[in-house]
Amino acid sequence: MTELYGGIEAGGTKFVCAIGSGPEDIRAETRFPTTTPEETMGRGINFFKTQQGEFGPLKAVGIAAFGPVDLNPSSTTFGHITATPKPGWSWADLLGTISRGLETPVSLDTDVNVAAYGEGRWGAAQGLENFIYLTIGTGIGGGAMVNGKLVHGLVHPEMGHMLLRHDRERDPFPGSCPFHGDCFEGLANGPAIQKRWGQRGDQLPSDHPAWELEAHYLALGLVNLICTLSPQRIIMGGGVMEQKQLFPMLRREVLTLLAGYVQHADILEGIEQYIVPPGLGPRSGILGAIALARYT
Ligand code: ZN
Repeated sequence: MTELYGGIEAGGTKFVCAIGSGPEDIRAETRFPTTTPEETMGRGINFFKTQQGEFGPLKAVGIAAFGPVDLNPSSTTFGHITATPKPGWSWADLLGTISRGLETPVSLDTDVNVAAYGEGRWGAAQGLENFIYLTIGTGIGGGAMVNGKLVHGLVHPEMGHMLLRHDRERDPFPGSCPFHGDCFEGLANGPAIQKRWGQRGDQLPSDHPAWELEAHYLALGLVNLICTLSPQRIIMGGGVMEQKQLFPMLRREVLTLLAGYVQHADILEGIEQYIVPPGLGPRSGILGAIALARYT
């Protein structure tokens, strides 16, 4: 009999819960809005309990958590959301509540690390030990696999808050990040596009100048990551990357900004396979959570 696992994509606006063993075997799935920690985690626990009645006990559960989240196993607040502007969620014990509620082992990582993990197991980064998954949406975040391990470090990487070159003559928009103004996220997330151009990105035509500028900021971020981590591939997901015209512009701009400095055929000749959309589409997070439960 196939062993079954639970996955939770715990997002700031919605939770997705699923049961299965992999991309071709999802037995049940549900989604609901993120409200208070008690209500939201309670709904998740109830879903898994009901499904366990039908499918039998889960072997383990994986959680892809919105951040900031404490990932230090020796910390007393391991698996807690830390200080967040999201009402009620500061210091909510995500890992403890779920593992006590379901009496099953639980693994947890950041949403972007888990999405990277899923892409490594079943998506666009299979067989690679060094790659990055970036999401470009309401926020910008990145997960990194380095030498086969997800990077945690001191807290966890905050790739979305890198500081980028910002030409204020070309783009006077001051940025949308409440902490830094014109950091990577502040210049290039979905809300920045909307504030700069007065229209949601998905309502702008695909030949609008917004996309050339967006590709420029994304490329600046990617060049910094290429030069820092030397990834073998970069996977670009999230709502903004649904604008497929961005991919060729972004690849071109990365080559321009690198200016021939990183000499490898995968970049110089194979950039179409180097900067790619997620192999699992919008399901990297939830499938990554199941992969995390299954393989860690
Ligand atoms: Zn910032």
